[in-house]
Amino acid sequence: MAISGFYETEPWGLDAQSAFLNLVVEVATVLSPAELLSRLKETEEMLGRVEAERWGPRLIDLDIVYYGARVIMEQGLTIPHPHCHERGFVLAPLAEIAPDFVDPLRKATVTELLALLGKDGIIRRLDAEVPL
Ligand code: AMP
Repeated sequence: MAISGFYETEPWGLDAQSAFLNLVVEVATVLSPAELLSRLKETEEMLGRVEAERWGPRLIDLDIVYYGARVIMEQGLTIPHPHCHERGFVLAPLAEIAPDFVDPLRKATVTELLALLGKDGIIRRLDAEVPL
């Protein structure tokens, strides 16, 4: 339904050496949250297999940030994503496509959450636009 710009962000984690690219997409789906997670894992695996031959194994991470206003706490699946509200690299691209979306736990909009957090960790927004 919508896609944000791409954000180059600072690496984190022990083995991280080069910058990350982060973006957010909005999708419409008939899949349940658990089915969607399973599809994302399949997609990660599929992309990882292709890329592993060239650039190494860990190259993609697909997360569910929100699933509408649903709050889900199951084994292996937490929605809203537990750290989304404290990550500028999630909120900054999300604010492009869903600024007025209300976080169902924090009862604040994406714009408000981003204002609290600032844009730490974001290096730049890439210029290129991605056609839908
Ligand atoms: P990671 O690859 O580090 O993002 O971790 C992925 C694991 O986190 C998955 O295997 C899921 O079981 C779990 N998980 C829990 N909540 C979520 C969520 N909202 N989106 C994606 N993965 C999640």
